[in-house]
Amino acid sequence: MQHQLVEVYHKLLAAFGHQRWWPGETREEVIIGAILTQNVAWRNVETAIDNLRQHNLLTLKAINEADVSGIASLIRPTRFYNQKALKLKRLSDFLFDRYQGDLDAMFAEGVDRLRHELLNVGGLGEETVDSILLYAGNKAVFVVDAYTKRTFSRLGFTNEKWSYRAYQQFFMQHLDNEAELYNDYHAQIVRLGRAFCKKNVPECTPCPLSDLCLYCMSCLPQGCSG
Ligand code: SF4
Repeated sequence: MQHQLVEVYHKLLAAFGHQRWWPGETREEVIIGAILTQNVAWRNVETAIDNLRQHNLLTLKAINEADVSGIASLIRPTRFYNQKALKLKRLSDFLFDRYQGDLDAMFAEGVDRLRHELLNVGGLGEETVDSILLYAGNKAVFVVDAYTKRTFSRLGFTNEKWSYRAYQQFFMQHLDNEAELYNDYHAQIVRLGRAFCKKNVPECTPCPLSDLCLYCMSCLPQGCSG
């Protein structure tokens, strides 16, 4: 399986080029973006981040000192904005209470322990926490999302019903334990999911993975429409 996963990555890299994720200028912007991006398109997150920037609220210190309602009004384009404002506040509380606001100290923590701590910050799910660990902390933690589950189950490598953790272990057991690889691999999966491996009707003919995809091969005999 290691060979196939590496092959998939090289095909995506050849098709799309290095994705240079995460879109964000600072670690704090990455962390804030990781919380805001859940269940909403990235362009909405960009609008919310611009709003926070214009109001000097694009740091965890500023968020720590701001009202939840004020944050919520600025991140309104991201849906579930009241919940997300609370999550931002709770994460900043955690950072200041536990690490005196020092991100270096937080990311110096062992990755398993820090993951466990972040998952105990109210409302943060595994995808958000792992995005923070990988993209802000440069920790070798594979991020799983709906695109990952859909694409790799269609390829025939996994089962979409597997848990988040089972998916994560699948990748981490078969790939070299490198943050740089995990960083771009996840970004490539998102690019593929948006461009070709769409939820309802995947566009298989131009997809760079079509020659090794079980879903694509199984529909060819019936006359592929994708
Ligand atoms: S060939 Fe089709 S189903 Fe397979 S990964 Fe590409 S878009 Fe998805």
